[in-house]
Formats: sequence, structure tokens, C-alpha cells
Amino acid sequence: MEYIPASTIVSRTKKPGNWFGIEYNMNIYKGCCHGCIYCDSRSSCYRIGEFDVVKAKQNALEIIRDELRRKSAGVIGTGAMSDPYNPYEKELLLTRHALELADAFGFGMAIATKSTLITRDTDILSDIAEHSPVLCQITITTSRDDLAEKIEPGVPPSSKRFEAVRRLADAGIFTGILLMPVLPFLEDSPEDIRELVRMAEESGARFIYPYFGVTLRQNQRDWFLEKLQETFPGQGLAEKYLERYGSRYRCQSPRARTLFGILQEECEKRGILWDMKDITHAYRKNYRLM
Ligand code: SF4
Repeated sequence: MEYIPASTIVSRTKKPGNWFGIEYNMNIYKGCCHGCIYCDSRSSCYRIGEFDVVKAKQNALEIIRDELRRKSAGVIGTGAMSDPYNPYEKELLLTRHALELADAFGFGMAIATKSTLITRDTDILSDIAEHSPVLCQITITTSRDDLAEKIEPGVPPSSKRFEAVRRLADAGIFTGILLMPVLPFLEDSPEDIRELVRMAEESGARFIYPYFGVTLRQNQRDWFLEKLQETFPGQGLAEKYLERYGSRYRCQSPRARTLFGILQEECEKRGILWDMKDITHAYRKNYRLM
């Protein structure tokens, strides 16, 4: 593991409260080796060289301890730029120890991951939930394992991620699904969305937060289109993207409205939340934090 210098690790969000009510962002690792073909974090605007090589921030736990000691309590989000449960975390335990610090200093946590390793930390997440909000967001972009293995090659298949949702939910931790991106022409079938909501219900998910499309920019677009050709040869998917979206940033599924309608209807039937305001209210409502 390569270590890189860092002066800050926990920073105030630009618009506190906007994204699941999170007040702080924390990235202990830089880069990600999960290899999702659509990953936005590899865009050159973030200036992360060698994105696929995971690096850890030097003295991360000392820096986090010092920062939490000086900050007012709030919910810390992690997982936006790099998965906090990459394969190295199994040995390094940096995310786990950071959760212990959040617990000790009275902070809440909102974690986004595609890894089932998060279930290892169920005990600490439960401890945090004793005093502060905890939100686990497991990203699942398709109900189909065969498809997930192709577009997210470095993480467990969707069915294993649903199992992780089940384990966290069984422990009483507020857990749901980030359904994003939903890749146009690949993952945007009404059947897949219906099946995904059904599996979410079975696993005890409290919410599904969707984006029916994908964002593409700069070098990330080129990488994605190349990967589409490599992974799905002969299907003309890259051509379809270029024809429909050109160099557009937001590439919404042509079926986005229909899919959103299906998601709302299926979720409401099952008591699963899908609206950001409702999700944020629900996971924070029993706490007097902030
Ligand atoms: S897990 Fe997230 S950060 Fe890692 S490659 Fe996939 S999309 Fe990118």
C-alpha cells in the first residue's frame, strides 16, 4: 500500500444537508480498484492519477481524531470518491477505526459502498446508532448478477450485496440501495427495475434512491465507451451512446420517466422510501444531533 500525505480528511460539505443530510465528507483512501466501467471518479477534473491504484492517506487516523475533536457533531459521509471498503481495508482497518472515532466523538455516519465488507463493521455501526444517525447505502445498479459482474467486475455480485443489506437491516441499521447509475440500453428495462424493488423488499431495504441514467465527461467517457466495446462486443453500444448523447454530461435513459414511475409505484406498494427528503428525515428523526 502506498501512503500519500494529507492535511485534512474530514471536510465540511459544500451545501450541508443536500445529499442525505450529510454535513461532512471523509475520504481515507484515494483511487479505487473496483473497476466499475462507468466510474465518474476517474474523470480528469478530480486529478487522481493512476485511479485504479488505491492509496491510503498518511496518518489518517491521527488527522481524523484531531479534526473530530475540533468539529461540531454531524453526519460524516464516506464513499463518494473511493469505496471505503476496498480489498486493502480488510487488513488495514482504517475505515473501521475511523468509525470507532466517529463513535467516540459523537458523530453520525452515512456510508456508500458496493462491498459486502461493510457488514464486518455492523457492531460499530450499531454502537454509533445508539447516539447518532447511521445510513448505509449499498449501491446496486441491476438485479442481474451476470450483468453486474461485467460492469462492476471488482465487487461482489448484486445478490451478495442484497445479502449485505439483509445483514445490516437485521441488525437494525437504516440501510437502503443507491440505484445509480442505471446504464441506458443495458440496465434500464422495466423488468429489471421491478425485480430490483422486489429483491430490495426481501432484503429489508428501507429506501431506494435512483438515477435513471449515467453521467459522462472527459476521459471518463472515452474509458466507458472503450469498456462497453470490450465487454459487450458486437452490440454497438458505444455507437448508440455517441448517437444519442454525443458529448452530453447527463445521459438519461430514454425510459427514465417510465422507470421512475414504476419505481415509485413498486416502492409505495411496499413501504420503501425513494424521495431524498423522506429518506433523510427517516434516518435522522430519532436523534437530537445538530
Ligand atoms: S466502487 Fe465507486 S469509486 Fe470504485 S470504481 Fe466503482 S464507481 Fe468508482
